[in-house]
Amino acid sequence: MRGLVLGVYTEKSKSGNDVSDYTKSFKDVDEKTNSSLSKTLKQTGPFCKSVKQKILWMPVESKVKFDCISVVDLGTKEVKENPLEGIDEKLERVRSSIADGVKALRSCSDFEEIYLDSCDSPQCAAEGANLAVFSYDALKDQSSLRPKSQFHLYEYDGIPKEYISDFEKGSHLAECQNFARILMDTPANYMTPSIFVKTVTEKCKDSNIKLIARDKAWIESKKMGSFLSVARGSEEEPKFLELHYDGAPDTKKCIALVGKGITFDSGGISLKPSPDMDKMRADMGGAACVTGTILAASKLKLKVNVKGFIPLTENMPSGKATKPGDVVFAMNGKSIQVDNTDAEGRLVLADGLCYAQQFDPIVTLDIATLTGAMMIALGSAATGVFSNDDEYWNVLNKAGSVTGDRVWRMPLYDYYKKAVKASHLADINNIGKKGREGGSCIAASFLNEFIEPGNKWMHLDIAGVMECKDETSYSCKGMSGRPTRTLVQFLKELEGSFIEKK
Ligand SMILES: [Zn+2]
Repeated sequence: MRGLVLGVYTEKSKSGNDVSDYTKSFKDVDEKTNSSLSKTLKQTGPFCKSVKQKILWMPVESKVKFDCISVVDLGTKEVKENPLEGIDEKLERVRSSIADGVKALRSCSDFEEIYLDSCDSPQCAAEGANLAVFSYDALKDQSSLRPKSQFHLYEYDGIPKEYISDFEKGSHLAECQNFARILMDTPANYMTPSIFVKTVTEKCKDSNIKLIARDKAWIESKKMGSFLSVARGSEEEPKFLELHYDGAPDTKKCIALVGKGITFDSGGISLKPSPDMDKMRADMGGAACVTGTILAASKLKLKVNVKGFIPLTENMPSGKATKPGDVVFAMNGKSIQVDNTDAEGRLVLADGLCYAQQFDPIVTLDIATLTGAMMIALGSAATGVFSNDDEYWNVLNKAGSVTGDRVWRMPLYDYYKKAVKASHLADINNIGKKGREGGSCIAASFLNEFIEPGNKWMHLDIAGVMECKDETSYSCKGMSGRPTRTLVQFLKELEGSFIEKK
């Protein structure tokens, strides 16, 4: 079966939302049906305020070859931006409306092919559709699964050429975010450090990304004692994965992305409580997003150089596990008193950050499901970001408003630095001495200890956005893969930095 999603613009009236105008795709279909589409739509009355779409089955003899059309309410034609929302509302409503339309079609029947109205933002239409229908079901009885729908752009005479390539870009972006979701949602017994490396290697095999998988002996040779201290309790060998994408080969400049790759976080000896511990299979969300981002950069042929650094390990309790109070040494020689073994993300990132800076990046970003405190602070509305540089922060903030996957800046005050430095046995302490107060800020200050003076750096705490809640119509059940698209947009915004002045 073939379905079609079409958009209309509406104005609020007493009885609901009245159609005020149609998109170009709608007008094209309407013309081909001698206006019977718009007439039928009118007969159904206004759109309800809460239900933003309508299903219209097409008569068998219809000239257009669609069995069913889902008409979605895009809202008013002129969009008023709300500065408090910090989002490009025009783009966001295309993602959401197309997602609503696709979900409505699929709730009626299995559609093998679904054609989409670009709504003048073909990239967003593709993103909305492909993100909305994703589900992780690799381990279920495959014969019980509903067939997947293929999405296509609805093309009409005179459609701008770039719409076709933009639609493809949107499909790539959604695919890369969905790949991050697969990595995150895969249970920890099927996603060990070794399996992560294998899965990513397989996925990147036809790309121009260079992968280097380092083993434990290499990690030891680099004196990454902080990273290794986390791996001690696990039977699984730790790995350190590097992904190199050189889209701007004329320059040596690069951007470094460091992703936290804890494939399962039990808390270690500081064992977590049982409820929700299963979700700690996604404690490698940062690693997943870094992978998805670099894969997207390669698919979109972005003219940037980007390097991904991913320390991968489990955090488990055992007779060999690191004990609270133990002191370990990071790659840069700093000693760390590990007072809580569940604050392990920052321990693996410390060494990841030290290593990444050896490549002299123009900016280093680390991405990590780091603190539950970030979920308390921002919920799943935005990624919390700590930055020592205003310019790069502004670029990232703008990227978040374009993609709809927002970021929010958090402080790096001295106040938090002091808390990290309060250590009885070592140079610094891995949880600070403020108890539960300002947990995300203290974690960020800990990481800051591993940033060389003068180096530009941003820390993205994605613990709050790890799992899809009900943020948008296009976020569906499971792990989120956020903020992959924002990171890709960030790289895209920085393409200009990679043009060498002659
Ligand atoms: Zn932990």
